[in-house]
Amino acid sequence: MRAAVVAGNWKMYTNAAEAEALVGVLAALVSDVKNVEVAVCPPFPYLIPVAKTLQGTTVKVGGQNMHWEDEGAFTGEVSPKMLKDAGCHFVILGHSERRQYFGETDEKINKKIKKALSIGLVPIVCVGERLAEREAGTTEKIIRTQLEGCFQTLTSEGMTKVIIAYEPVWAIGTGKTATPEQAQEVHRFIRGWLSGAFGKETAESIRIQYGGSVKSDNAKALMSQPDIDGALVGGASLKAEGFAAIVRAAE
Ligand code: PEP
Repeated sequence: MRAAVVAGNWKMYTNAAEAEALVGVLAALVSDVKNVEVAVCPPFPYLIPVAKTLQGTTVKVGGQNMHWEDEGAFTGEVSPKMLKDAGCHFVILGHSERRQYFGETDEKINKKIKKALSIGLVPIVCVGERLAEREAGTTEKIIRTQLEGCFQTLTSEGMTKVIIAYEPVWAIGTGKTATPEQAQEVHRFIRGWLSGAFGKETAESIRIQYGGSVKSDNAKALMSQPDIDGALVGGASLKAEGFAAIVRAAE
């Protein structure tokens, strides 16, 4: 039985006061939720105050990206050690916005996943096709290439700690959600690929989130699909009440 995991990706939104207020309300709203892991991924400057506010609550904290080295002359980057130090449990890796605007490749994501696992951060690894790729009928080919690139040379043991987020790029921030059936079809494909690469037992244990315009009114239908184990939520995670409703839909 896989416990659902619902994570909020705040992207480059909020300010210090909003960030602390948001998690203060959220933690109270989800304090009695059972069997769902809940996390927020604020911008880097707010990780420490957010983690402090969330101390002693059930809500965990994650980073939105990291470098694969522990330290070095990498101006503008944040290291895995720094995320750990700041109180992070998770780190989002390979988000489509990182791939699109910051040159993130499957090869770099692979290095980051290995580093995250070695330091005890749980990677949330994003994969997903663009609209043109879906329309061309190449969704599975694109996802397979991303999975092969991101997870090359990983062990089954390492993979059991990884979370995968299937995020069709055409559904991110657009208000266009994949139907529960469309999402389930790709989630089943991902689990099948995992089974072939790492064995059935490992594949069955890996949590696969759906992401792409998840809201309180579509969350339940998506997360009741057999291979959908939670959600990665962007816009709707910026309001405590709406995000808490998505968490409840995962219960
Ligand atoms: C995301 O940023 O990962 C995301 C899914 O965004 P949204 O929920 O706004 O589509």
